[in-house]
Amino acid sequence: MKILFVAADPKPERWTNLIQQHLPDAEIQVWHPDSPSCGADYAIVWHPPAALFDKEPQLKAIFNLGAGVDALVKVPNLPRNVPVVRLEDAGMAVQMAEYVAYHVIGITRDMDAYREQQTAGQWKLRRPIERSDWPVGVLGLGHIGQRVARTLAGLEYPVCGWSRSSYAIDGVRSFAGEAELDGFLGETRVLINTLPLTDSTRDLIDYSLLSRLRPDAVVINVGRGEHLVDEDLVRAIEEGRVTRAVLDVFREEPLPTTHPFWNMSQVSITPHVSARTLREATITQIGDKILALEQGQAISGIVDVQRGY
Ligand code: NDP
Repeated sequence: MKILFVAADPKPERWTNLIQQHLPDAEIQVWHPDSPSCGADYAIVWHPPAALFDKEPQLKAIFNLGAGVDALVKVPNLPRNVPVVRLEDAGMAVQMAEYVAYHVIGITRDMDAYREQQTAGQWKLRRPIERSDWPVGVLGLGHIGQRVARTLAGLEYPVCGWSRSSYAIDGVRSFAGEAELDGFLGETRVLINTLPLTDSTRDLIDYSLLSRLRPDAVVINVGRGEHLVDEDLVRAIEEGRVTRAVLDVFREEPLPTTHPFWNMSQVSITPHVSARTLREATITQIGDKILALEQGQAISGIVDVQRGY
């Protein structure tokens, strides 16, 4: 079987060595735009060029090196008859839960203020946390959102989740579809976005949505930058509707140095690190799926390209 690795990684051998270990019989090549077609059976890709699909029309499946396929489904000649497979968790959900829990705990327990007090040499107790004051709403209840929601529910925050379909999750109130979005927002003070970026979710977090959250809202965006209308968040912060924002993803990455977020004390910025792709776990998952396909078995994680996730 032939596998083509297509990602702008300066050290692709870090991936291909692992693939070879997992699939010793496979013939593995690294994509180069000038190389002739290698007749690949499978492509393992991250932001591939359109030329890939012209050159390799016989692919049996395309594996995306990430959970989000927003960049891949935009490639105009992505073949419609070939399964596109996304990463399912692969070690990312726990990282995301950790990242979100860290910030929710830090904000609700006033940790920044204690740090400032330390700098000022002050020993002063602040008001203890009332969890009922911090209802959490998780946008998206997929692999990542469910893990985030369960983690915060385990810490006894009131937790709601919003998704397309309804879910029964212990400690999490499920809201489904457009019709229940208002109800979800009305129950939410800490909004956490884990949605995939699609035509229906782009620009979802705008001024109107932010205005429907509980007062003194907090926004944590770990989905994609294009879910959030930046100037609307700036306005909501200036008006005091939103008091804190934690942003890991941005419309333009790296975030331009002139962007207003950099100078807002209410905004915490991280450079798209809330969940890193773990090579071992990723290649184990993809390798197992390739073996399953070779044996004619069904696999999970196939993207509905029309729907966009
Ligand atoms: P999943 O596909 O497992 O889950 C997506 C969830 O979003 C599902 O619950 C789905 O509902 C819901 N959803 C999608 N569209 C809508 C809609 N229009 N209205 C309501 N709900 C909707 O994805 P993952 O959890 O694995 O990943 C989510 C996203 O997280 C990725 O697409 C990626 O963009 C982002 N991500 C960010 C990373 C980072 O480092 N910042 C790392 C990894 C991922 P339903 O279940 O009903 O279909």
